[in-house]
Amino acid sequence: MPTSSFTSAASIVPCPVVESLDAILPEEPLLMMGAGPVPIPAAVAKANTIVINHLGATMVKVIGQVKTMARYVFQTKSKWVLGVAGPGSAAMEMAISNLAWEGTRVLSIKNGFFSERMAEMGRRVGAHVSVLDVADGAVASLDEVAEAIRRERPEVVTVVQGETSNTVWNYHLKDIAALAKAAGALVVVDAVCTLSTMPLEMDAWGIDAVITGGQKGLSSIPGVSLIAFSDAAWTRVKTRTAPNAHWCLDASLAENFWHNAGYHYTAPVSGVLALHEALRLVCAETLEKRFARHLKCSQALQEGISALGLKLYAPQACRLNSVVGIEVPAGLSPGDICGHISRHHQVEISGSFGLPIVRIGQMGEQCREHNLFRTLHALGRTMVDLGSAVDLPAGVAALEKSLSGGARAVAR
Ligand SMILES: *Cc1c(COP(=O)(O)O)cnc(C)c1O
Repeated sequence: MPTSSFTSAASIVPCPVVESLDAILPEEPLLMMGAGPVPIPAAVAKANTIVINHLGATMVKVIGQVKTMARYVFQTKSKWVLGVAGPGSAAMEMAISNLAWEGTRVLSIKNGFFSERMAEMGRRVGAHVSVLDVADGAVASLDEVAEAIRRERPEVVTVVQGETSNTVWNYHLKDIAALAKAAGALVVVDAVCTLSTMPLEMDAWGIDAVITGGQKGLSSIPGVSLIAFSDAAWTRVKTRTAPNAHWCLDASLAENFWHNAGYHYTAPVSGVLALHEALRLVCAETLEKRFARHLKCSQALQEGISALGLKLYAPQACRLNSVVGIEVPAGLSPGDICGHISRHHQVEISGSFGLPIVRIGQMGEQCREHNLFRTLHALGRTMVDLGSAVDLPAGVAALEKSLSGGARAVAR
């Protein structure tokens, strides 16, 4: 007999009492200056509150515009732009799992934590992955890459543009892509932290798959990502005989939604709308101006940090601008600094997977002058509070001097 009450007291899961978000979240939102997620513009936040039908004319129009704007941001004329419900890593797994399978020869250029993830994903789909292990704080030399390509004869080469974990910038990216292409390999580039913060020209550089997340350079929400495949990559996707073990990440199925106005899975509509607005703001600013803003802000921040008396982690030659790594002075831990600056200054910054550094992001909305002053001040004050000798006035002065163009801005 069905009954409205539980039959066995032992099987009852009691209704929980929890705190409301108002009780959990800080009264004043923290300033998100870590390695992502980053602050989002009001238009992105507003779009993220809206739910619409994931199929139908409005969504089709939105999807069309997202693809058009994404092509500009990726600098590609390729038709094969798709969104992904999931983190940057889901876009990464879409690239790897669609282009590599049992026995595929993959060469992974590993600069650290995130570029290693592509190698791991390759191993998981059964690919034969060889790793070019690059020393911390260095980039792969073109000679090393050429030699590895000769030795391994890869069908797919994976490389990260900016290795967020140790703040290294792979400035040879364009030449690495050319080497791989000359050897007939497809090139997969992780541009999660760099896309729209520094130049990347998918078509001109001969890149076959570019991936990015929402929550970094694009200043959208986490959880909706973008990927672009070249025609050559798409041909490989469409002509493979082994089915992709990942159903959600199968690019041929995703084509139904992203290109044929059909159903794959229910799209994260609010997140796609948020991404639309984030991309629209990139287009309104233009890539040229956006790159210049990122460069100016990141360099000023780096000068401010150096003038505090702290040391930047990555060597100048291969230093990433999108995320700035700072050595933690002896006697302190990254956790001490991140905890203090969050509790006392409402500024969030990041540690880094066991490295003795803290990281400040310079992606999207993080690159605003007022955010730089608040963050540098909070960092300097935190170091003083924790007993580390820094010159806070000198740091703030160096930041201002750099932002206002140095000596040229001095009043006469
Ligand atoms: C953040 C990041 C990722 C992972 O992105 P998730 O959204 O956390 O999955 C991958 N690669 C790089 C370079 C990143 O900065």
